[in-house]
Amino acid sequence: MPQFDCAIALRRELHNIAEPSGEEVLTEAYIVDFLRRNGIAVEHSIAGHGVVGLIDSGREGPVVMLRADMDAIVYHDPDHPEQMVAEHTCGHDAHIACLLAAGLALKNSVDCGRVKLVFQPSQENLLGALAMIDAGVLDDVDYALSSHVMPIQDLPFGIFSPSVHHNAAATVKVTVHGVQAHAAYEHLGINPVEAAAHLISGTGLMKLNAQKCWSIKATRISGEPGSSATIARHVEVTFDVQTEDDATMDELLHKLRNIVDGTARIFGTHIDLSIKNHCPAYDYDPEFESLISDTIIELFGEAALGPHCACGGEDFHFYKKARPTLRCAYFGIGAACEPGLHTRGMHFDESILPQAARLLTRITQKLLSAKN
Ligand SMILES: [Zn+2]
Ligand SMILES: [Zn+2]
Repeated sequence: MPQFDCAIALRRELHNIAEPSGEEVLTEAYIVDFLRRNGIAVEHSIAGHGVVGLIDSGREGPVVMLRADMDAIVYHDPDHPEQMVAEHTCGHDAHIACLLAAGLALKNSVDCGRVKLVFQPSQENLLGALAMIDAGVLDDVDYALSSHVMPIQDLPFGIFSPSVHHNAAATVKVTVHGVQAHAAYEHLGINPVEAAAHLISGTGLMKLNAQKCWSIKATRISGEPGSSATIARHVEVTFDVQTEDDATMDELLHKLRNIVDGTARIFGTHIDLSIKNHCPAYDYDPEFESLISDTIIELFGEAALGPHCACGGEDFHFYKKARPTLRCAYFGIGAACEPGLHTRGMHFDESILPQAARLLTRITQKLLSAKN
C-alpha cells in the first residue's frame, strides 16, 4: 500500500517536534504546510493551535470529522532537572501522521459530502475538544471518528479494536483547612493531616453498584510547609476518579461530597472540593461501530478484528455531549506500544501506520459513498 507509506516518515518528523498541551506551535505549522502543499484547504489557529483541513466533494452529503490529537507529554529533563522536555509518549505524532496520509488519499476519492480533518490541540489536559467546540468546529458535523495507538498489553500488534471504551474521568482537588497550634497543644488546633487521612479512608468504604466499574484513589497529597512541631493550616489531596459511565460518575461524586461534608463536621473544620479536568464516558453509534468492524475484516481479514478495549479518559467524548445527534466511533490500533503509554522512551512498531491510515480512509469513503 505505497499510497499510505508516507505516514511513517511524517510521524518520524513530527516525533522530533513534540510540544506540550497548548504550545503546539511547530506542530501546527507542520500540519498547515503539509495540507497546503497538497492542495487541501486549511483553517488554522483555531482554539489556539488547532487546524482543520477541508475536503469538499462538491456534492450533497454528510460531513465526516476525522480527529487527531496533537500534543505531547512533559517530563523533567534528568540532565537538567530545572528544565522540562516534551516527548510523544502517547503516540499523538502517529495519529497526526495517519490523518495527513488519509487526507491525501481522500482528497479526490469521496463521492459526496465533506471531510473535516480536525487536528485538535490540548488533549492531554482535556481542554482541547471543548475549545474546538466553542470555536464552532462541530457545527455542521454528522459523523466523528478518532483512534489511538494501543499498549501491547491491550492489543497485540496488527490487530484493530473496533471500539475503545473510555471511562468518564475526573480529577478532584480537596483542600482540608486546619487551625494552627503547637503540636504539644493540639487540642487548641485542628489537625488537617488527620482529617485528610480520615477522608481518604472514607473513600475506601464508598459503596457503588458492584456491576459497574469504578475507582477512586488519592494520587497526590501536600500541605503547608513548616515546623514538624506545628499543626499545619491546610492539606491538599488530589483524587483521580474513573467510572464506566456518566451516571456512575455523578453518583460517585455525590458520595464523595457527602464524605467530605461528614469529615468536615467530625473535625469541626472546613473542606473545599473542586473538580478539575473531567471528561465524559464513551457513547458510540452501534451502526458506525459495525461499519468499522466490517472494514477491518474487509481490509485485513477476520484475524485482524480485535475485541473492544477499555481505556482511561478522552476529551473526544465532549463532541457527542455538545451535539447529541453526532454519530461517534473510535478504533484502537494494535501498534505494540511498549512499555506503556505516557512512559518515557515509549516505542511501537511504526509499520502499522500505513494500515491505520488506510483504515481511516476506507471507513470515510464508505460513509461518503454515493450508494448510501
Ligand atoms: Zn495520553
Ligand atoms: Zn493519547
